Amino acid sequence: MGDNPMLKFVGLGQSYPDKRAADARADDFLEISRSFILDKAEEQASRCSQCGVPYCSTHCPLHNHIPDWLRLTAEGRLREAYELSNLTSTMPEICGRICPQDRLCEGNCVIEFSGHGAVTIGSVEKYITDTAWKEGWVEPLVPGAARGQSVGVIGAGPAGLTTAEYLRVAGYEVHVYDRHDRAGGLLTYGIPGFKLEKDVVMRRIQRLKDGGIIFHESFEIGRDATLDGLRERHDAILIATGVYKPRDIKAPGVGAAGVVKALDYLTASNKAGFGDAVPEHADGSLLATGKHVVVIGGGDTAMDCVRTAIRQGAKSVKCLYRRDRDNMPGSQREVANAEEEGVEFVWLTAPIAFEGTEHVTGVKVTKMRLGQPDASGRRAPEPDPGSEHTLEADLVIKALGYDPEDLPKLFGSEDLSVTRWGTLRVDHKTMMTSVDGVFAAGDIVRGASLVVWAIRDGRDVTEHMHKYLKAKAKTRESVAA
Ligand SMILES: Cc1cc2nc3c(=O)[nH]c(=O)nc-3n(C[C@H](O)[C@H](O)[C@H](O)COP(=O)(O)OP(=O)(O)OC[C@H]3O[C@@H](n4cnc5c(N)ncnc54)[C@H](O)[C@@H]3O)c2cc1C
Ligand code: SF4
Repeated sequence: MGDNPMLKFVGLGQSYPDKRAADARADDFLEISRSFILDKAEEQASRCSQCGVPYCSTHCPLHNHIPDWLRLTAEGRLREAYELSNLTSTMPEICGRICPQDRLCEGNCVIEFSGHGAVTIGSVEKYITDTAWKEGWVEPLVPGAARGQSVGVIGAGPAGLTTAEYLRVAGYEVHVYDRHDRAGGLLTYGIPGFKLEKDVVMRRIQRLKDGGIIFHESFEIGRDATLDGLRERHDAILIATGVYKPRDIKAPGVGAAGVVKALDYLTASNKAGFGDAVPEHADGSLLATGKHVVVIGGGDTAMDCVRTAIRQGAKSVKCLYRRDRDNMPGSQREVANAEEEGVEFVWLTAPIAFEGTEHVTGVKVTKMRLGQPDASGRRAPEPDPGSEHTLEADLVIKALGYDPEDLPKLFGSEDLSVTRWGTLRVDHKTMMTSVDGVFAAGDIVRGASLVVWAIRDGRDVTEHMHKYLKAKAKTRESVAA
């Protein structure tokens, strides 16, 4: 292999940045992984075999130029590596932290298949962009020449922020509306700090504000304006509102005090992390400190709840899931982190009632067994008769997933067409909804998904909105002429 800086995977083992010890990290909300140091990042990048058809890249929703920036990193050309990774993503350091790489790029790396362990792509991506911020290589957002048209973006999550950034660069006046008091969507108020520290998100938002994007925080469409009202103010609209209607459990006692919704719980914790006064922490209703906590669900939200409860000083934390470990939707990496931190997983178990008169005192559960595969291909769980028993609980967190809110009703726009799942119906060639000039992207179109897909949708919808706006400007010119 001579002087070739790459293909070192045979002699050089896979290595991730060290994690802080479980007992040390269970007391704070800081990220659990340390960063690579320069030598380590270069070394790990050099394991890439520079595939002619890079499956890492084809399985990345953004089609990031992974082998190219790995090579530049291995050659010590970090600034160029950053510039290349920045070309396809509006927030590479965020993806580096929270993408489920084991299911995307790293899970499809050929070195993984050959038994050598994938190139640690996410950790290198995080390293090069964090370095870029530190070294001042991240350029300010420079707006393009003003076009005299304005765009309204509803929702400041990764989809909305991505579109806002690209459209501002293209010269539009961009207004972003969000019902929360801070932008970022689930990056800010869903995902906990131990996966994604908040100053990483806030510095991205500050860059957009500095670039002239106008944020209207604590502004809710449906309460502070209708969709039609917004259409009058702007030449085009993007709806990127995510999915926020929590799925519920049908069981006696589910309405008891102490049975709470996952996102209420996580939002309160994230607000406390910002130093905000949180009444639900002051009165203890959304705080796990000193409590026996049961979290119901097996997805990433449930993993975030159990690990938050540990950090708040819960007496015990159990995660209840009706299928087994192999059939859970959440990431195995997160399960391992939670187990290290002291979470007990109670597999093949489902709640049947919530006990307690004034306040929940326990969850009555039944064991489950896996039957025949259902429509989704996964083996359907069914109750195991005679296995009922009660788990002690003073805080129960329901984390069963999310559905879209009723947007046509909420926005006062019955013309907005939705699918049978309640997601917005778009023309897949244009990403436009049934209402002229109103586009949609992210979870509100896909259903609950991933940050990287929201960024991809935000990138794609920019092209369509740009085309629409150019045509609109041309029509205006010809009418005026
Ligand atoms: C707890 C949790 C953990 C997750 N962890 C991960 C992870 O580790 N990795 C990963 O890739 N994905 C993760 N996800 C999924 C990921 O966060 C979402 O797929 C992604 O944020 C969707 O982006 P979005 O821009 O479509 O919507 P969102 O991020 O949901 O942003 C939508 C924004 O719209 C605003 N909004 C909604 N309605 C209105 C209205 N009427 N008026 C004004 N504003 C409105 C909301 O306040 C919000 O700020 C997680 C999700 C949750 C819930
Ligand atoms: S699949 Fe793995 S080895 Fe191949 S280019 Fe991508 S990171 Fe490198």
